[in-house]
Amino acid sequence: MTQRYSAFSLARHALTGHKNWPKAWRSPPLKSAYDVIIIGAGGHGLATAYHLARDYGVTNVAVLERGWLGGGNIARNTVTIRSNYMRDESIPFYVKSVEMFDGLTRDLNFNMMHSKRSMVDVVQTYGRLRELRRRQLVMDIHGATYQPITTEEVRRRIPALTGGGPDARLPILAGMVHTDAAVNRHDAVAWGYARAADARGVEIHQQTAVNSLVRGASGAIEGVETNRGMIRAKQVVVAVSGHTTTLTETAGLRLPLRTMNLSAFVSEPVKPLIDVIVNCPDSGFYLSQSDKGELVVGGPPDPGQSFRRDIKQQVFENTVSSMLSLFPAFKTLKLMRQWAGHLDIAHDSSPIMSHTDVPGLVITAGWWGGYKAIPAGGLTLAHLVAKGAPHPLMADFTLNRFKTLDYIMESGTTTAR
Ligand SMILES: Cc1cc2nc3c(=O)[nH]c(=O)nc-3n(C[C@H](O)[C@H](O)[C@H](O)COP(=O)(O)OP(=O)(O)OC[C@H]3O[C@@H](n4cnc5c(N)ncnc54)[C@H](O)[C@@H]3O)c2cc1C
Repeated sequence: MTQRYSAFSLARHALTGHKNWPKAWRSPPLKSAYDVIIIGAGGHGLATAYHLARDYGVTNVAVLERGWLGGGNIARNTVTIRSNYMRDESIPFYVKSVEMFDGLTRDLNFNMMHSKRSMVDVVQTYGRLRELRRRQLVMDIHGATYQPITTEEVRRRIPALTGGGPDARLPILAGMVHTDAAVNRHDAVAWGYARAADARGVEIHQQTAVNSLVRGASGAIEGVETNRGMIRAKQVVVAVSGHTTTLTETAGLRLPLRTMNLSAFVSEPVKPLIDVIVNCPDSGFYLSQSDKGELVVGGPPDPGQSFRRDIKQQVFENTVSSMLSLFPAFKTLKLMRQWAGHLDIAHDSSPIMSHTDVPGLVITAGWWGGYKAIPAGGLTLAHLVAKGAPHPLMADFTLNRFKTLDYIMESGTTTAR
């Protein structure tokens, strides 16, 4: 029986020194077969497991994770949640995901430390200005919130932004504000989904690495070969972010994806300084301030194919110097930690959620900025698995688009490309 978290349960457990909390999820014995295997206990894998159990009653599900749950990109991202995308196909999906994030604490009975705050795009080139205004007009059609603001208003909202004056190499020309943006705690998202999925009967197996996908004589998926032996299932979902291609290649499947390194770092904690998410696409960085006071800074992806999960020195130096050009006062800040993750990026920069040429094998991949997509990603992927047909919000994001050339060229992905 899963413990319901509340102020009352907190007070009750305080009486026993917080020593009797039940485990948040089980570690059941591994079975030899399941209805559905999900590879990867990141945000997308866990959210899919939760929705399969909650929405469709599919509970004979194993989530297999080679490390510890929530240790992949979900632990490495900068938690920016937003829906200011460019394409008609993308916007409704991200609007839904942001909406679901807003209610996730209540939904999963897990405190996400969700903090709704605006995102300000700082515009420093006319090309960017045109592109963002175009994005605004497309978003207007969908009722999403994205509005132009003047340079003065940018500076009023971000007093620490003292660079980018009229004599700068890239002077600030204007801004765009996206009022639906938010940040929250990424570990809580992984843990919350894991706990809620486990409570509905889903099994989560950590330290269980899938070495290869196994196909039967008919070519259909039969299961997976793991470090703990063969496990059978008629449906296998690959939700492994940067490792998608290395895994699907074991089933003879080549995908239009390449893996890239994306990095971030944090400063020492300082007093409250910035209460919005600041995105500077022309300079190539973005930042926000965490509840602890640290400035969380992200750079652009390194364009070469790479499976590294540490920060590349030149990306780090470029990002710091870009940041100092707009925030010169930050030069005295100490930087505390730096890291990176590896993202699988599709050729058109949009996600792929799809059946494949291997019957029974489903992939969710290409999540460039896929943290914000986790709630709606789980909702729609569970639909695909349970019903055998794409959810209307993701109907255009199939693999087939690369055959019919119906690309969804998405420029609303991240800082710079
Ligand atoms: C530095 C950085 C900043 C980012 N900032 C943002 C942001 O601000 N906003 C945003 O929306 N997105 C952001 N992202 C992107 C976002 O983190 C990812 O798109 C998203 O987390 C990917 O989905 P996931 O959580 O399911 O992946 P992951 O958490 O990576 O989950 C995949 C899991 O699969 C496991 N796995 C891999 N191979 C195997 C195998 N063979 N067998 C078993 N398990 C396996 C991995 O161990 C991992 O736990 C950022 C990413 C990085 C790296």
